Amino acid sequence: MERSALKELYIDELRDIFDAENRLVKALPKLAKAATSDQLRTGFEEHLEQTKGHVERLTEIFDALGEKPTGKKCPAMMGLVKEGEETMDEDFEGEIMDAALIAAAQRVEHYEIAAYGCVRTWADLLGETEASELLEKTLEEEKETDAKLTELAEAMTVDDSSEEEEDKDQKSTSKARGAKA
Ligand code: FE
Ligand code: FE
Repeated sequence: MERSALKELYIDELRDIFDAENRLVKALPKLAKAATSDQLRTGFEEHLEQTKGHVERLTEIFDALGEKPTGKKCPAMMGLVKEGEETMDEDFEGEIMDAALIAAAQRVEHYEIAAYGCVRTWADLLGETEASELLEKTLEEEKETDAKLTELAEAMTVDDSSEEEEDKDQKSTSKARGAKA
């Protein structure tokens, strides 16, 4: 493929991620606020700081390219953030809210992992060594965040006691109905 065409695509995709990361800087504090467990809240707060760093790294890459990072919207991240907002609007309680927030956050991380994997590969193809290293660092942080979210989801426990109560209630209701019939 032609170098100039790939470089154009590369810069275009970097602008897309730049917009995505900036949207996350705004969304992550809301996710942190909605989290029930301290661990999840801290996780979101830590990832917010990392995300600011991701914006910094992209700015650095654009500076080196002599290009502007702005000018592109990321409709995918707009959609993912919207889904996250819908989750926060649900009246989920406690760990259910946390489980749902983790699901929303992992969708975001997977999107970022895909995007950073591609631009990192293209940076390598283009011989943009410094950019490749910066993108790789961010990619690793996204993967670590994803793994931490999986750990938090796996550490949750399922409580059967309330369901047993419901079962009893249902049985007594059907008995009562049977008695009436
Ligand atoms: Fe990021
Ligand atoms: Fe991320």
